[in-house]
Amino acid sequence: MGRLDALATRRFDLLVVGGGIVGTAIARDAVLRHLSVALVEQEDLAWGTTSRSSRLIHGGLRYLAHGDFRLVRQDLHEREVLLRTAPHLVHPLPFLVPLYRPRSRWWLGMGLTVYDMLAFDRSLPGKRWLSRQEALQIEPALRPQGLEGAFLYYDAQAPYMERLCLENAIACAQGGGVVLTRCRAIALRVHRGQVLGVEVEDRLTGERGQVEARVVVNALGPWAEGWLGEALPRPRRPLLRLSKGVHLLLPSLTRHALVLFSPQDGRLFFVLPLEGCSLVGTTDTPFAGDPASATAEPGDVAYLREGASLAVPGIQDAPLYTTYAGVRALAFTPTRRESDVGRRHRLLDHRREGAKGLLTVLGGKATAARAIAREVVDTACGLLGWEAESRTARTLFPGAPRGEWKAWLPFQEAFLHQQANLPPTNARHLARLYGERSAEIALLVAREPSLAEPLCPHHPDILAQVRYAVQQEWALTPGDFLLRRTLIGLSPCRGLDALDKVVSEMGRALGWSPAEAQCQREGYLQEIALWNTPRV
Ligand SMILES: Cc1cc2nc3c(=O)[nH]c(=O)nc-3n(C[C@H](O)[C@H](O)[C@H](O)COP(=O)(O)OP(=O)(O)OC[C@H]3O[C@@H](n4cnc5c(N)ncnc54)[C@H](O)[C@@H]3O)c2cc1C
Repeated sequence: MGRLDALATRRFDLLVVGGGIVGTAIARDAVLRHLSVALVEQEDLAWGTTSRSSRLIHGGLRYLAHGDFRLVRQDLHEREVLLRTAPHLVHPLPFLVPLYRPRSRWWLGMGLTVYDMLAFDRSLPGKRWLSRQEALQIEPALRPQGLEGAFLYYDAQAPYMERLCLENAIACAQGGGVVLTRCRAIALRVHRGQVLGVEVEDRLTGERGQVEARVVVNALGPWAEGWLGEALPRPRRPLLRLSKGVHLLLPSLTRHALVLFSPQDGRLFFVLPLEGCSLVGTTDTPFAGDPASATAEPGDVAYLREGASLAVPGIQDAPLYTTYAGVRALAFTPTRRESDVGRRHRLLDHRREGAKGLLTVLGGKATAARAIAREVVDTACGLLGWEAESRTARTLFPGAPRGEWKAWLPFQEAFLHQQANLPPTNARHLARLYGERSAEIALLVAREPSLAEPLCPHHPDILAQVRYAVQQEWALTPGDFLLRRTLIGLSPCRGLDALDKVVSEMGRALGWSPAEAQCQREGYLQEIALWNTPRV
């Protein structure tokens, strides 16, 4: 049976094209409303912008400065929903905003007060002013000269944003939806103004097929406008502005997340903790071309390094482990510079263009994905004549613990240790990454103890995760596993120390020949080469 057969045998209510955080959130919402759903992704889940974000679940101080109170309020609410429904993947994160002379404390204090007010339903503590001495005590990496003090406030982080996206897809599949990766949507099929479905190509075999669907959602992020141009070839006003954002991965340099302001243009950017490293980002510059080709340029690295080192001097000479670049899709506004363009999404219904049943999502932050999905599926339900309310605000993600996170974590660690004899470090890591589903990995180990073998000396990940990723999480290449099911590839060793074991375990599970295994190894090296450190 070919991979496309699962898509060809029935007519779906909804076909989502694009497996980023927005597309998968739509698929999850729709399945929870009992619609029949298919999702196709040309590469891997979260392969696009979703895996290249700052990984914050936040209202966004930057958008507050732009006066976009509605967006900030919506996303602060979404932060609460995610802290509740995906506590294994979304965690509170304390931020420091160090204040250096001559920046005014008044404006910043006002802004953070408004931020707190907009988060009136929050579970996180409100902002607090720290004296210079207190700030240096809790964050000794800060440059003391000129420091007035710092604000301490809370937001949230999804270090494994890719897994949030993945868990949307898992929820979709659990509800009977079909998710197919490495499957590209090629052409839209329309008859007499009504969408019939999409022609797709299996990128593993080159086979082509039709997917019939009553509603098709274009959730292609930065690829959305290009695809639409081919699907509905008629002149239209520009829909998107693309903007590149770069991050630097450095050794861990601070104890806290920091909000800093660039001395070059006053833009706000972050220094964030990420799995034992510091992530510095991001930039916001115009981008043209294929979003897949975005890379960090020496100028991007210099901008971030110089800006950050004014507050954290250690950043100037810290070794650069790697960089990554992503492309934001911003709903088009004609005049302003990229960092001033709003982050609010737009939903287009193409019925007036002769394609009833086609919807396009433009822009929107990852934090807002659930709210965007609710609106999209509400509209789709209208087109389908189906009445059902969104259930995502109250439904737990598939791995979410059925209990309070802090109490659950040590309990689960002990359980994993007991079931599969996993050492505490590995057990804790698995519980954090997979939540309740970590028990399924422990079961693999209990049945086959050799799967407890560590993948490399400096990560707590084990061989069983590779097997599980292939069997349960759509992983088809080493990059899928090292960069998007785990963050092993986003660490000083870039995943190279684990590569042989990953290739050999995946090869066993997927039946690779030695030549195919070699090809996959080279494919991974090419994939991380795009993220390479530019020479500066
Ligand atoms: C540098 C940076 C930092 C950011 N930081 C944050 C943050 O901290 N918090 C936050 O909330 N938001 C953040 N964002 C925004 C957030 O990352 C994006 O809004 C979000 O990831 C967009 O998701 P998406 O699903 O719309 O797009 P994508 O993740 O790009 O998904 C689109 C998918 O479509 C697939 N595709 C393309 N063409 C086809 C085709 N023909 N057929 C099938 N599939 C196809 C692609 O492979 C891709 O996987 C950041 C963005 C950037 C660039």
